[in-house]
Amino acid sequence: MLTELGDDAKILAGGQSLLPIMNLRLAEPAHLVDISRVGDLMGADEDTTSVTLGAAITHQAIEDGLVPDPCLGLLTTAAAGIGYRAIRCRGTVGGSLAHADSAAEWPTVLTAIGADVTVRSAQDERTVPLRGFFHGFFTTSLESDELITAVHLPRFAKSTRWALEKTNRKEGEFGESMAVAIVSEGSASIWLGAAKDVPVNLAHVETLLADHPADQVPALGEVRDRVAADLDLSVPELDLAQRHRLQIHAVTVHRALSRALSPEVPA
Ligand SMILES: Cc1cc2nc3c(=O)[nH]c(=O)nc-3n(C[C@H](O)[C@H](O)[C@H](O)COP(=O)(O)OP(=O)(O)OC[C@H]3O[C@@H](n4cnc5c(N)ncnc54)[C@H](O)[C@@H]3O)c2cc1C
Repeated sequence: MLTELGDDAKILAGGQSLLPIMNLRLAEPAHLVDISRVGDLMGADEDTTSVTLGAAITHQAIEDGLVPDPCLGLLTTAAAGIGYRAIRCRGTVGGSLAHADSAAEWPTVLTAIGADVTVRSAQDERTVPLRGFFHGFFTTSLESDELITAVHLPRFAKSTRWALEKTNRKEGEFGESMAVAIVSEGSASIWLGAAKDVPVNLAHVETLLADHPADQVPALGEVRDRVAADLDLSVPELDLAQRHRLQIHAVTVHRALSRALSPEVPA
């Protein structure tokens, strides 16, 4: 149908982003292709190294543990933090990735995990790493006739520790900042959402961790300097509002590191 209808058609999954956009008349598709009851997009599959989730699986199914979480609870925690329960009942993981809001949970969390998506059109199927899938604000490498069919997640090693920190004014809102820290023997994957148009890899923060003893949390000031470097910010040139935003991101990342590195916090 997407091939036939071309740019006049939009996929409708949970409708929790598309319908508000249509209400605001920011999108006025002539046709909606409803995938919310396509059974093939709702299955979950697992083997010893990975789990595959259908793109139309809801945030609620993940929150409630109805599908496997190969990431030691990170997926269920992320799902539970999305909006309100009513939104989680309908919103889907594939819809969130296709919508590509960098303040949303799945783009940042699943990129940090190193997940891939399977993308399919009438002619072709390809597997795309999420690291590279997001091109900008609400923009991905998806073509207009392509559907995300599944998300592939690697299994965490048992010793992996993780933390997800979301800073928002009130529960149920999008985060003003969101940090994911995944630490396993000898390596760290630290990502930040809601800071730029796409999730940002905090490579300078990862290097800071590598230079510290394994369970020692770097000081907030050090983390702030590294976050500024990762966001390409020149601190002396920032105005008050920009400094405030940097501080919010630094505190969010620092909290995530403290939890991921702290032995008494269960992963
Ligand atoms: C009040 C409110 C609060 C919210 N708070 C949060 C929050 O805190 N965190 C958060 O992460 N999200 C939040 N959301 C967004 C919510 O998570 C949405 O469910 C999600 O962003 C979109 O998923 P969906 O299944 O509803 O997609 P839809 O709204 O149906 O579609 C979104 C877009 O993706 C496309 N699409 C959908 N599925 C596919 C697919 N399989 N392949 C290709 N394209 C597809 C559609 O064509 C459309 O362009 C909130 C939404 C609302 C209304």
